[in-house]
Amino acid sequence: MAVFDAALAQLAKEMVATMHEAHGIGLAAQQIGRAVQLCVVDLREVEADFVWELDGARPPLELFMPMTLVNPELKPVRGTETFTAEEGCLSFPKIRGDVERPEAITVKFQDEHGVSHVLACDGLLARCIQHEIDHLNGVLFIDRMDKKVRAPLDDAIKALAKETRAAKTPSP
Ligand SMILES: [Zn+2]
Repeated sequence: MAVFDAALAQLAKEMVATMHEAHGIGLAAQQIGRAVQLCVVDLREVEADFVWELDGARPPLELFMPMTLVNPELKPVRGTETFTAEEGCLSFPKIRGDVERPEAITVKFQDEHGVSHVLACDGLLARCIQHEIDHLNGVLFIDRMDKKVRAPLDDAIKALAKETRAAKTPSP
């Protein structure tokens, strides 16, 4: 369980900086080797159509992004459609492919101060949050790709895995 202390707030801050440096819209703690149920999301710079309701209101994105989600619990909205769109991932540079996901979700989470929130959203925001929460559960976007989408990417994924292993080998 996450402890809401200065170290957690600092981790969230560093992750937001890392995400911005990489021009990403989301980052999960697992991607920087931390086993905490925490991810950060920022869609302010993205041109996309989506709707959201945070704690029953519709504040401008500028007021709550970048946002930190701790211990998120995700539920697709009942009866929502799925939709397919291309995704990328900061952990898989240059690899992109179509992933099918529910269109609308509700997510309960705590912010970096331990305050509980409920966010209902759809479109790219819902997709981004689902992608990040997958990371928290050890699921990658390539795992969710259709075989036909994934097959042409397999060589590139293998090459990347090899590179990553080589980079992690400690120097003598
Ligand atoms: Zn990712």
